[in-house]
Amino acid sequence: MWFLCEYKMIDFKVLFTVLMTAQCALSNQPNVGGIFYSNDEDLKVAMSVSAKLFNLTAIIKEVSKRGDILEITGHVCDLAEKGVVGIIDGLGGKATEHLQGICDILELPLINIQHNDLYVKNWSLINLYPSPVAFNMALEQLIVKKEWLNFTLLYVKGYSLSQVQSLMKMGHPTERVTVTVRELSGKDYREVLINTKKSGHTNFVVDCPSGHLEQILRHAQHVGLMADEHSYVFVSPDLFTLDLHRYRYGGVNMTGFQLVDLLKNEQLYEFISFYNEESGESLAPENLKIKVVLIHDAIFMLYQAMTKVTVVPTSLSCDSYESWTYGTTLLNVMKTNKIEGITRNMIFDGFGQRNNVTMDILELTPAGNQTIGTWKYDELIMSRPFVTAAEIAAETIMRNKTFKVLISKTAPYGYEKKSSDHLEGNDRYEGFTIDLIERIADILDFNYDFELEDDYGGLNPTTHKWTGMIAKLNDEKADFAICDFTITAERQSAIDFSTPFMTLGIGILYKEPSKQPPEMFSFMAVFSKEVWYYMMFVQIGLGAIMIFVGRISNKEWQNPVPCIEQPEELNNQFSFANSVWLIIGSVMQQGSEIAPIALAPRIITSVWWFFTMVMVASYVGTLVAFLTVEKNVLPFENVKELYEHKSISYGAKSKGSTISFFRNSSVPEYKKMYQKMEKNGWLVADNDIGVKLAETKTYAFFMESTSIEYTTQRHCDLLQVGGLLDSKSYGIGMKKGSPYKKYIDEALLKLKESGEIKKLKDLWWKEKMGGGKCSEKRDEEQKQLGMKNMLGAFVVLGVGCLIGIFISTLDMLWGVFKRSVKYNTTFKYELVEELKFALKFNGDIKPLKRPPKTGSGSAEALADLEGKDDITSLRSFRSAKSSDSRRTHHSHNSKHSSGGLSVAFARRRDYS
Ligand code: GLU
Repeated sequence: MWFLCEYKMIDFKVLFTVLMTAQCALSNQPNVGGIFYSNDEDLKVAMSVSAKLFNLTAIIKEVSKRGDILEITGHVCDLAEKGVVGIIDGLGGKATEHLQGICDILELPLINIQHNDLYVKNWSLINLYPSPVAFNMALEQLIVKKEWLNFTLLYVKGYSLSQVQSLMKMGHPTERVTVTVRELSGKDYREVLINTKKSGHTNFVVDCPSGHLEQILRHAQHVGLMADEHSYVFVSPDLFTLDLHRYRYGGVNMTGFQLVDLLKNEQLYEFISFYNEESGESLAPENLKIKVVLIHDAIFMLYQAMTKVTVVPTSLSCDSYESWTYGTTLLNVMKTNKIEGITRNMIFDGFGQRNNVTMDILELTPAGNQTIGTWKYDELIMSRPFVTAAEIAAETIMRNKTFKVLISKTAPYGYEKKSSDHLEGNDRYEGFTIDLIERIADILDFNYDFELEDDYGGLNPTTHKWTGMIAKLNDEKADFAICDFTITAERQSAIDFSTPFMTLGIGILYKEPSKQPPEMFSFMAVFSKEVWYYMMFVQIGLGAIMIFVGRISNKEWQNPVPCIEQPEELNNQFSFANSVWLIIGSVMQQGSEIAPIALAPRIITSVWWFFTMVMVASYVGTLVAFLTVEKNVLPFENVKELYEHKSISYGAKSKGSTISFFRNSSVPEYKKMYQKMEKNGWLVADNDIGVKLAETKTYAFFMESTSIEYTTQRHCDLLQVGGLLDSKSYGIGMKKGSPYKKYIDEALLKLKESGEIKKLKDLWWKEKMGGGKCSEKRDEEQKQLGMKNMLGAFVVLGVGCLIGIFISTLDMLWGVFKRSVKYNTTFKYELVEELKFALKFNGDIKPLKRPPKTGSGSAEALADLEGKDDITSLRSFRSAKSSDSRRTHHSHNSKHSSGGLSVAFARRRDYS
């Protein structure tokens, strides 16, 4: 008789000890046979481990060649002779048929663990693999739940379609669903898959042996059948034992079955620990293939049946066609004994088929495999609706996960908190990036642990390996790196960066130089050069305008000798000299004797006075500061001058993007500066050392503008010299191809748009840790008045001039009109004559008479013409006129005279 230990769910260590002891103590354990192909190592291991677990002796037979009937027959007969209580069939297919034939005769229980291409119903067989009936029902309900109106059934050549028969019936013309069937044959499935793609199908049911799964998935991905719009249902329960990582983020929907209950399955965890120990592997429970698990359940079932009935193992001979007396009883007990194994309830029909199975329905999502329903008691119960991968990802991908976040102790991005209390974990740190990751974590609902890393990372030129944060991200030792982490092309080739959260450039931090007394011509510095140039230009331009406007304004032509009522010639005060004098007199706030008479010159002069008032007031207001404030005189104004400077040393952080900028620069000066920094050892380990050197030595520190801004808020003796050398940004670093990038980007954009990042920046730059100290002092510095300050005055002047020109034009046109009527000439003729005279810009005397329109007129005709003139005769004072013209004349209308003398004066006027 044999002894059987009661199997209890106890701690596996204790169990193992008990088993070992029992095994040693008892040599007469019942034998259980197993027939496997010699290369199915995993099944053989599962067999021996399971037998040990249940105190049975495993006799394993290996078949070296597929379908070798003779070899298989020999093995079965051998096992029968050894008196096995049952045989585990690890071969499947046609071999099973053969095995079953022999076992039927010997009445030996044969336990199958895989889907049989032929749906065999026979009394000696028990198949632990769910029956095609179960799959057909489950698949049909799943397709209905998915509301597919069409799908393609992909199956591998030679594999029976018994598990999907009911799906094919769904494609019956009376049904609404369109079903296409495609066979995957040969070694390359891509051709068939390409044709499938071309036909535009997006829903697939895949029925294939588990060994083909990986190839089908790979080929489907190659041909682009793994995108958002594609949806798969896999019949094989082994789908989710594969590493589906690479398909997770493509958006494809994959649904499949899982027989094993991973959540509360103590048997599974005990089995896997023995299995891993025996096989030397380190498989996770979810990676165990269904066949391996079913071997365990088969032996467990056998063991359980033997506890119910007494069986005596008997040696049987194939030659004598004996049968085992206890075989039928044992089989019947196994079929009716409702027990639960790793694959849950084991219930069989009269033919040993497992119809009533419980399976989880799993879906591949970007957040991993998710159970979305259960198949139980022939009913599909969904725990959540089918949603798109994108929706699941957005909701769940980061939720409740804990990430390792690399930070650096660089102010103001990260500080070690100073506290009298003992701080632990994340509480030990504070700073801008600490707050930023907290905001992101709040949005995405994840947890994080900080790890300090001072080396941001670069490519080691000798080892060609990445260092620091980049190496840690690549090796998956950390998930994110958040600090003043500059996005560079080199780094981006190794890792991914989030969308930028701050922009900056390289600047020069230098000591504020000692004050110098004002220069000799510092009064000129009140206005920028630009303003001075414009002022000069405006004065010249205005002079010209004044002369023109003066010449075309009628009232500006005055009688030079007021005592002569009817002058022969009129005089104009807007000569070049007078105009310039008027303009300069106003600028100097002194005035002049020149006073415009006509409306247009008066408008222009008023606007000019207004302009000069504004300019002078601005000048005087600022002048004092320029004459008294001592100025900083920097030894260099920009990087070029620094490069040329002999006595100032300069440097940057030794491991960072700033020094990489100089190292990789194509600008010869920058390259030389890099060599100089390297050679002279001017590089520093971190920003704090650089700042100290800049403060205490003759040392210029190349620093990122954000850090310069932070430093100059706290070190008032330091300032940024010149502009920025480049433009770049900071981002959150993560592993290349990180699935989290999209969500981190979204969270960062939200924070940017809501102004949260700006708020954090102001807090850490201007308020916390002594911020804002130097801003008041800086505000006191005097600013030169530039064009942007004075533009308004120039605009007013321009507009005033335009109005003046417009009015004087009207005035001129009116005069032209009157003359054309008076002399009976055309308006055009008079206008041309008037403009010619005005634009000559010389001759401030205008005769009142004129020659006739045609040069060949007779003396009588002229006398007649003059007779119409109302200007009376006058004497000529021509010689005195030019000297008197500078006198101020008050408005009074000229009275035109008529008379014989005027003819002679008219001839003097030169209109040509
Ligand atoms: N932000 C730089 C980096 O990512 C460090 C500072 C610097 O190089 O100036 O490497």
